[in-house]
Amino acid sequence: MAVSKPAMGVLMHTLNPCYRANRRRKPTRIIIHSTGANNPYIKRYAGPDDGIIGKNQYGNHWNREYKDNPNSAKLGNVIIGKLEDGSVAIYQTAPFDLRPWLSGSGKNGNGNDTAFQFETCQDFGASSPKGTAKKEYYDAVRAKWVHLCAWICQEYGIAVKNVIDHREAHAQGIASNHGDIRSWMVLFGDTMDKLRADIAAMLDGKVKPPAEILPPKPPTPEPKPEDVIATAVQTGSGGLNLREGPGTAHKSIGSIPRYAALDVYEINGTWTRVRYAKLTGWGSANYLTLDFADVDPEIPDVETEAVYGYAVQTGSAGLNIRTGAGTGYASLGLIRRNADLTVYELKGTWARVQWGNIQGWCSAKYLTITKGENKERG
Ligand SMILES: [Zn+2]
Repeated sequence: MAVSKPAMGVLMHTLNPCYRANRRRKPTRIIIHSTGANNPYIKRYAGPDDGIIGKNQYGNHWNREYKDNPNSAKLGNVIIGKLEDGSVAIYQTAPFDLRPWLSGSGKNGNGNDTAFQFETCQDFGASSPKGTAKKEYYDAVRAKWVHLCAWICQEYGIAVKNVIDHREAHAQGIASNHGDIRSWMVLFGDTMDKLRADIAAMLDGKVKPPAEILPPKPPTPEPKPEDVIATAVQTGSGGLNLREGPGTAHKSIGSIPRYAALDVYEINGTWTRVRYAKLTGWGSANYLTLDFADVDPEIPDVETEAVYGYAVQTGSAGLNIRTGAGTGYASLGLIRRNADLTVYELKGTWARVQWGNIQGWCSAKYLTITKGENKERG
């Protein structure tokens, strides 16, 4: 009996520079981390609020661009901790084959090159009394570690002996010098060897993985007309799934036929929150042609950003606007022919542009670029 995939939320950290670096590798080991800080809530590290994790009131989570968080850019493939309602959950923050930034390196290399890595929110910190560490929370987190590791070992063919913590990774010379997660385990008489034995027992079918579900997402409030940021047409080849949340892990609540007209309320990575007929949900932006002109003719000011020039999309069809300069980066939408763009910088054959409310990169080959300010727009 195969190990089932654990329930997990999906909140891709598409703004994080590690995500944008978009280096892919085949993981051959797992390194487990814990934060070392007294904050068990996922929202401290992940954002924005998806209606389940809760809102980080300081906005200092890890889904921020380099310019907004230059001193501590970190990212794991998943994070484990408490949701707003206090239950413990796994959230995926980067694709499983994306090279994370979490372990640092040692004398034998950099663990990010070979390891799937996950972060875990602690309920005690270096400067807080260890008495704040609760066994109930530790046990809930530990159950996630076991299930997730067993599933990943099964899916990626990773040997259980290659499930290690940050401390062991340092001892193997592939990580910086930290004591997690052992420093947490010892408070409850636990060890990595015991954890590995429990992972092996689940893989051997001796222990069943827990049946679990994520708490339901609260209903999206009825959008007000002023919340519409763009209109879109479904230009994929068939019906497009309308989902409860931004990601294929979320349940489909309907299908949008080809050429249907939609209102767009929000963009989150490659996902858009849209309204079709009476239904509101999330659809993949890869199959939509977005148009900002009807609803927001003003090009928003971009603070402290020097403008290189302006451009018109003169290619023959929709042009992908992407999270980085290359076809390997995720598409945020399709820029229609004849659309006006502001150009901030050129890098090889790629241009960083503003299109309506979206900033991203597109191929400069399909742009007619004029250097200097756009006089027509003032
Ligand atoms: Zn660590």
